[in-house]
Amino acid sequence: MIFLHGAMTTPTRTDPELDLMRAVRAAVGPDMPIMLALDLHANLSPEIVETCSALFGYHFSPHVDMAQTGERAARCIVRMARGEVRPVTRLAKVPVVLPSIFTATAMPPLSDIVEAGFAWERSESSVIDVSVFCGFAYADVPQIGFSVAVVTDGDEELAERVCEDLSARIWDQRQALLHRDLVYSVEDGIARARELNADAKKPVVLLEHADRMNDSTWVLRALVEGERAGRVAVPYLWDPNAADEAMAAGVGATVTLDVGGHSSDRAGGPVSLTGKVIYCGHKSYVGTGPMRSGQVIDLGPTAVIDADGIVVWVTERSLSAIDDDPFKQFGFDPADFDIIVLRSKTHFRAVYEKLAAEILIVDTPDWGPAELTTLPFKNVRDGVFPITDGA
Ligand SMILES: [Zn+2]
Repeated sequence: MIFLHGAMTTPTRTDPELDLMRAVRAAVGPDMPIMLALDLHANLSPEIVETCSALFGYHFSPHVDMAQTGERAARCIVRMARGEVRPVTRLAKVPVVLPSIFTATAMPPLSDIVEAGFAWERSESSVIDVSVFCGFAYADVPQIGFSVAVVTDGDEELAERVCEDLSARIWDQRQALLHRDLVYSVEDGIARARELNADAKKPVVLLEHADRMNDSTWVLRALVEGERAGRVAVPYLWDPNAADEAMAAGVGATVTLDVGGHSSDRAGGPVSLTGKVIYCGHKSYVGTGPMRSGQVIDLGPTAVIDADGIVVWVTERSLSAIDDDPFKQFGFDPADFDIIVLRSKTHFRAVYEKLAAEILIVDTPDWGPAELTTLPFKNVRDGVFPITDGA
C-alpha cells in the first residue's frame, strides 16, 4: 500500500511520483501487489496504472474521506491476497482542468459526476471502485487535469465502459464545471458587497481566493483607494516588516505603513495604509474553529491597524484566516463588520457560510486564479480546456 498526493512537480521533473512508482515496481518485481491511494487533486500520468495493481482516490473535497480511501485500498489488497478478486484498473485522462475553488464535490454538476461513479459501483457487481480525480490546476505539467480510474474484477471491457461514461460527462459539462458566472472582478465584487450591505444584517465575505501566500493586496488596494463605507475587516495579511514597524510604534500610535503584496509580482504590490495601531504583540492562541480546534496557533509579532474603518491584521507568520478566531482572539465580533476579506479556498466555509450574508468569489491576477487562462503555462498538453482549448 502506497499513499501519495499525486500532484507533485519539481523544476526538473514534471511527474516525480510516477518516477517513484516505477522505481518501486522495479525494486519489488512485476508480481508483487501494490495498491496506490491518492488525493482527489492528483494530476495523473496514464502510465501510473502500469506501476500498481489498482489505484484509489479521495471521493470528496474538502477531503473528509481520507481514512476511508485507505480502507478501500486495504480491502482490495486483502480480497486480492485471498484470491477473491483479480483487480484490473483503467485510467482515462479527460482534457479538462478546474481551478481549486470549483473542485468542491458538493457543487453540481461535479456532485452529479461523483454520484454517477457511485451508481456504477452499485449497479455492477464487478466494479470494485471508481475514482474521479479533478487534478491540480496550478502545476504546469503535461498530465494536468481530470482523470477517471476504474477498478473491476477482471473485466477490462466494463472498466473501459465506466471510464468512457464518466469522461463524457466531465467533457460535456466542462463549461458548467468552470462556474465563470460565480466569479466577480474586484470592482464588481466590491460594488455587489456594498449593495448587499444595504439590507444585510450579516457581513459579506469577499474571497480573494487567488492568493496563495496570504499577502495579496488587490482587494485591499481597491477598498483603501475607493470610497469609504461601513467597516471592513482584513484578517491575517502576511507582512513581517509592517508588523515590526507597528510594534515599534505601539498601541495608540498613528502609522503609515506599506503592507502586503511582497510575495511575488502577481501579489498586487504593497498598499500604503495610514491608521491607528489598536493592537500589537506576539500573538499565539489555542484554535477554536472546526479545522484548527485545539491547535496552538502562533502568528508571531502581530499588529491590528484601523485605517478609517478598514481594519487590517498584519502578521509575521503566514496563516489563512479560516474561522472566527481572528475576531474572537483579539476582542472583536465579526458581526461588527460589513465586509470581511478572506483568502481561503474551501476550509473557511465551515464557519463563514453561517456567519456571512453572502460569499463573493473575487478573481485577481495572483497565482491561484479561477481564470486559468491568465497563467503562463508552458508544459500543458494540447486540447486541455480551458488552458490550451478554450471551446
Ligand atoms: Zn486535495
